[in-house]
Amino acid sequence: MKFGGTSVDSREAIARVAEIVRSQRERHPIVVVSAMGKTTNTLLAIAAAATAGCRTDALDDLATLRGFHLGESTDPSLAPQIEAHFDELAELVRGLVIMGECTPRASDAVAAFGERLSSLIVAGALRMAGIDSVHIDSRRVIVTDGRHTQAAPLVADTTARLRQQVAPLAARQVVVMGGFLGATVAGVTTTLGRGGSDYTASLVGAALNAEEIQIWTDVDGMLTTDPTILPTAQRVAECSFAEAAELAYFGAKVLHPATVLPAIEKGIPVRILNARRPENAGTRIVASAAPSPGAIRSMACKRRITLVNVVSLRMLMAHGFLRQIFEVFDRFETPVDMLATSEVSVSLTIDNTAALSDICGALATFADVSVEHDQAIVCLVGENIRHSPNVAARVFGALRDVNVRMISQGASRLNISLVVAAGDLPRAIASLHREFFPEARAA
Ligand code: ADP
Ligand code: ASP
Ligand code: MG
Repeated sequence: MKFGGTSVDSREAIARVAEIVRSQRERHPIVVVSAMGKTTNTLLAIAAAATAGCRTDALDDLATLRGFHLGESTDPSLAPQIEAHFDELAELVRGLVIMGECTPRASDAVAAFGERLSSLIVAGALRMAGIDSVHIDSRRVIVTDGRHTQAAPLVADTTARLRQQVAPLAARQVVVMGGFLGATVAGVTTTLGRGGSDYTASLVGAALNAEEIQIWTDVDGMLTTDPTILPTAQRVAECSFAEAAELAYFGAKVLHPATVLPAIEKGIPVRILNARRPENAGTRIVASAAPSPGAIRSMACKRRITLVNVVSLRMLMAHGFLRQIFEVFDRFETPVDMLATSEVSVSLTIDNTAALSDICGALATFADVSVEHDQAIVCLVGENIRHSPNVAARVFGALRDVNVRMISQGASRLNISLVVAAGDLPRAIASLHREFFPEARAA
């Protein structure tokens, strides 16, 4: 049972978590928690302020965060431990001020405090609610490589440690552990990337052959589109692993993109549930889901996308041009999400712009390069797309007033993706939703 940030952002929210855990006590749940509320953002902002030399601001914000955690903890006996965590964190932050630099390793050390604290506090709250629970430091069991801020779990080691250290405890008690963080074999703290607590939960579930992996969050499940863009989005009752993976990859934040991988390997169903409305059935993600009522199961979108246009300096695209281009993106460890080619040009989209200027520099040695920021990807997903001949026509019909920059269908046979300017995104989503989910209009 994984509980996200909003599900543990106050003592009242944590009390609701305790009741949800109690209601499934006989299933021997293992509880994975995110940092409380927006704590991860706050920690990273504190690290940034410290690095920029704003010592007083950083330490003031840290004091506020300390007060918040102490105030939301229901178990008074935990206060010394919480204080000790913040003392250690304050040392680290002072170190950042002195160094004026925050390495990825230091960033992980800071960010991991969010889940280290929340897991302690939730374990304490469960005990106070009369649920026999025990806290485990995730760094003892989640073993990762050393790619700080984006670490990949070493699955065999992690599985062995979970079976050895967590399984025996979980037979008797509710084990509570933090999501998102892990450690290298040498014991250095790492994190799995933003939103990574979902991934922790599915790693744990797969290692221990769980009946089910539950992702408890602040919405009723996977919805027909991003509710922050279209509040009338509807709950999807069931979807397939392949559909969920595609949606997560293309921006459905409700699920970390890697979450379904361990579940697929073991065939473990994943459920997305609302911690504020536990009676709601949520979304079930299974290997083969009942077909969706329409052609599309759901639409995801990714904002802050950058379009890179690469034009060959020769008249015609010689063979090897694509290889040259991809070699550059590979060298700078930047994934490409979408791609379109013409006679002499290639357009691609990237999400991570950390290496953009290096990439452009390298591409410019053999091509003309231009970059457009502020683009968005809309991705329509459904296993039914392959059986529905007129989906593309309906997409273009719905978007007749929107300038579509790029379109791609076919790679997985279950998605159609398009790129529009970020400013056009709400209009595009609304039109497409009306077209593919007409019943939601009345809601
Ligand atoms: P948690 O802290 O529980 O992990 P997140 O904020 O990471 O929660 O993910 C839940 C949020 O994902 C929702 O509040 C919603 O705004 C957003 N979201 C984006 N796309 C979708 C979608 N297709 N279905 C459901 N939620 C979505
Ligand atoms: N707390 C981490 C984050 O905000 C991990 C998570 O919530 O899944 O990214
Ligand atoms: Mg999340």
